[in-house]
Amino acid sequence: MRPLDVNDPAAETSAEHFDVAIVGAGPAGLTAAIYTARSGLKTLVLERQMAGGQVAMSDIIENYPGFPQGIGGFELAEHLKQQALRFGADVREIEEVEKVVPGTVKQVVTAEGTYRARSVLVATGVDPKGLGCAGEEKFRGRGVSYCATCDGAFFKDKVVAVIGGGNSAVEEALYLTRFARKVYLVHRRDELRADWIYVQRAEADPKIEILWTCQLREVRGEDRVESMYVEFTDKQELHDIKVDGVFFYVGQRPNTAFLEGTAQLDAQGFIVTNDHLQTTSSGIYAAGDCRVNDLKQVVWAAAEGALAAKWIQHYLDNL
Ligand code: NAP
Repeated sequence: MRPLDVNDPAAETSAEHFDVAIVGAGPAGLTAAIYTARSGLKTLVLERQMAGGQVAMSDIIENYPGFPQGIGGFELAEHLKQQALRFGADVREIEEVEKVVPGTVKQVVTAEGTYRARSVLVATGVDPKGLGCAGEEKFRGRGVSYCATCDGAFFKDKVVAVIGGGNSAVEEALYLTRFARKVYLVHRRDELRADWIYVQRAEADPKIEILWTCQLREVRGEDRVESMYVEFTDKQELHDIKVDGVFFYVGQRPNTAFLEGTAQLDAQGFIVTNDHLQTTSSGIYAAGDCRVNDLKQVVWAAAEGALAAKWIQHYLDNL
């Protein structure tokens, strides 16, 4: 499909038209698609990678209701996608949205072309952040990773470090004990931020050693990661500790750069909405982890997807 030239009279007929274009196929976007497609709205879902987002990269989701034994992240993502497809949503993967142009009919621009939609839902989620410390970029993909589920198996019987003390860090440290013979959990404070259940498990796991009040200063090595240079800030001691891999889980960054100038973002880049999940741009909505909200959980993202679908339908009815 060629890019849409708004000054070209033929453009009106060349672009594909939808009632709602959903950007991002994680739990928020796919749940919204289930609701809008099931309501008879012509629904497009555009996903820059594979459907599922961060969830598809999680080993197991234990706290999503309805699955007493938990459910694999990839499996849950696939179920969500199949459910959206069943109701007629058009789900297009590996197609990244570069821009949304506001208007009564919005233009959603990707490298493949431009779609026209009467409403847009942004549900692009977050990406893991790094620390930006020495060696991090140099060894990315050569021992430095941001995804234990993707890369953990490469560290069988090796020693790895996980940086961070939140739910992601502790959950992934526990996951890595399946492969690694030892996992250092490097946390800058003397108390973990993660939920109680993860803290209990990590403290009880013989393969996990928590390095308290410890800051990673440098990832070191020749061709691959060989050690981490850390500072125990309470004692102001520096140590070089042998590791084969370093996994960063020090927080998340919303995938919202393409919305800059179109809708209001907060200082961290999260999307600001009203109670109806509408952004500051009429007919453009946001749901899930990329939005300013209090709970970054799959169940909450799904719930916001459903809520956004309801308000989008209301918006379209009143156009
Ligand atoms: P997070 O909760 O923001 O935790 C980030 C961790 O990185 C914190 O422990 C923080 O330390 C540390 N950190 C941040 N900047 C650092 C720096 N410059 N140097 C050293 N350490 C640094 O991020 P997250 O774990 O990715 O979780 C994001 C959201 O998703 C949270 O709301 C979380 O609850 C949710 N989540 C939920 C689950 C689940 O329920 N199963 C799983 C994953 C994520 P401090 O603690 O000192 O600030």
